[in-house]
Amino acid sequence: MAGAAEENPLLAFDGLPPFDRIRPEHVEPAIDAVLADARASLARLLEQSDGYTWDNLVAPLDAQLDRLARVWAPVRHLHAVASGEAIRAAYNACLPRLSRFHTELGQNRALFAAYQRLAEQATSDPVRRKAIDDALRDFRLSGVDLDDAGRARFAAIETELAEYQSRFEENVLDATHGWTRPVLRDDELSGLGPEARGMARAAAQRAGRDGWLLTLQFPVYHAVMTSADDRALRREMYEAWTTRASDRGPNAGRWDNGSTMERIVTLRQEKARLLGYDHYAELALATRMVHRPEQVLGFLNDLAGRALPAARAEVEELKSFAAERLGLDALESWDVAYAAEKLKQARFSISEQMLKPYFPAPRVIDGLFRVVERLYGLRVEPVPDVQVWHSDVTYYRVLDTAGEARGGFYLDLYARPDKRGGAWMDECITRMPRGNDIQLPVAFLTCNLSPPLEGRPALFTHDEVLTLFHEFGHGLHHMLTRVDVPSLAGINGVEWDAVELPSQLMENWCWERESLDLISGHVDTGEPLPDDLLARLRESRRFHAALGMLRQIEFSLFDFRLHMEMQEPGIREIQSLLDEVRDSVTLIPPPSFNRFAHGFTHIFAGGYAAGYYSYKWAEVLSADAFGAFEQAGVLDRSTGEAFLHEVLERGGSRAAIESFRAFRGRDPDPAALLRQAGLAA
Ligand code: ZN
Repeated sequence: MAGAAEENPLLAFDGLPPFDRIRPEHVEPAIDAVLADARASLARLLEQSDGYTWDNLVAPLDAQLDRLARVWAPVRHLHAVASGEAIRAAYNACLPRLSRFHTELGQNRALFAAYQRLAEQATSDPVRRKAIDDALRDFRLSGVDLDDAGRARFAAIETELAEYQSRFEENVLDATHGWTRPVLRDDELSGLGPEARGMARAAAQRAGRDGWLLTLQFPVYHAVMTSADDRALRREMYEAWTTRASDRGPNAGRWDNGSTMERIVTLRQEKARLLGYDHYAELALATRMVHRPEQVLGFLNDLAGRALPAARAEVEELKSFAAERLGLDALESWDVAYAAEKLKQARFSISEQMLKPYFPAPRVIDGLFRVVERLYGLRVEPVPDVQVWHSDVTYYRVLDTAGEARGGFYLDLYARPDKRGGAWMDECITRMPRGNDIQLPVAFLTCNLSPPLEGRPALFTHDEVLTLFHEFGHGLHHMLTRVDVPSLAGINGVEWDAVELPSQLMENWCWERESLDLISGHVDTGEPLPDDLLARLRESRRFHAALGMLRQIEFSLFDFRLHMEMQEPGIREIQSLLDEVRDSVTLIPPPSFNRFAHGFTHIFAGGYAAGYYSYKWAEVLSADAFGAFEQAGVLDRSTGEAFLHEVLERGGSRAAIESFRAFRGRDPDPAALLRQAGLAA
């Protein structure tokens, strides 16, 4: 029995997770212990006969749920960034137990009745009022009103869904790491920059091979697709990437997500119908800023209509450039990024290789911190001797103008094997009262950027700098919250389609002179990005903006219609829907082997189901919010403080639209996004 904290490091609730001591064998006993504790405590709380109050019911229940979250957060994180068989087995063993517990809690009628009684009491605290209202809504969305059979079926669906979503993600991870391509001749890598070659060399060395080893880690894949002159190599890698976890490609059938996808959609639809909704998209909108499915489709179709003419012109130009200058008569999918990079070089005299030396990791990270110092008065400093899960990881703490500690974060920047792809922010610890103190929030910030090579700092592409700023924006939302109710602190309780506002807003500072002076500095000379290069970078911002927008719309429409139109789809129908969406908004049709959906973890494994449109929706907010900075000066402190106080600190304590209005003084204006993308009428 590993119940006690001295035996099980996951049950130490003080301070940061002791990553040096956490082992896979600690996971199940810790989860079992904390779940048993939570059940016993809930029963005791409900036995109180002299009337429920916030202090005798909600606060102690929140504290109990926080203990569970604190045990699970490091486990979930290790499963994503240091995935091995043992942690994976332990993680998956816990999923049904957690799912059962959460459903039990959401369907607990005595607890529901207690919250209803609390809702009837007058409270002058609008935050507590919203927490109770949200909780009542969530009880209903957990099936509290269903009959016995319905509640049991709901619980079974939740458990099965958790398992399938985890399997989907693991298949993508395994398929990504399950493909490599040895290269023995230098000329096969023609066009590739020194960093990409270095990564491929290092991969070969790790595998005990001569030459180079190409992998599907994103920085390598991206480098080949944008710069490898060998067309056959690009095709080979494109095929490997776009057929991951599917029935096609070099590992066809090995990690095929097809049946998993069918099951996930079918279960989500059954859950929605059980709760009285027509389809899953409608259920998803019950907690969003947008309430009606037609609003989402109308928004996306309207954007598509605006982007299509500009995108057609972009494609025509790209095709003729590729034919005339690159000898590529038929532009194939594996030529697009390559030809676009060459066209960008020709048009703006700018390339990723030219920019990279100006974005060495230490300078970019320091510059990012200086940007938020100027905007919000924050001081960010590394904390030595914090236990981490990999030597690349650093822990930082964040202090405000008054020198008050506000939170902390782990920064795990670089791509490596056994790490899930993409970039994300996850909660490690959530802000809440603890005794007479406040437990400060802690975030995990995870990216898959180009790693450093042989004693030289990592050099980032401008896109990678954008990614870092984006995730840091999510991190600020989590860390700077002043809300002391954990269900509404940070990103909790924020409508999902507004959650990308702080993150997308941060990206804007990667394009401005004042901030670029802080985040750029040549790796050899320290010289900031020269004026002419900056001017060309800024000019290139709208390069292929319409095509980029259409791509986001394609993903969004596919996701939304999938969860709206398909009740029990087979994999062929899912693929046909994707093809149909592509017919309407994709100007360079992908090859028939392309199985993009099989690796679409955002919607099949992550939180974006019927919610991918959020990126575009929140961009309306972020583009318009940045307009306030453009008017006042991009590093204007008082505008920064207004955003800090009205949006970042408020978390989910009020509706996102209210926070936006409080900051901007009016409703969001969609024209800002169109202007930013160069699509304004
Ligand atoms: Zn994001």
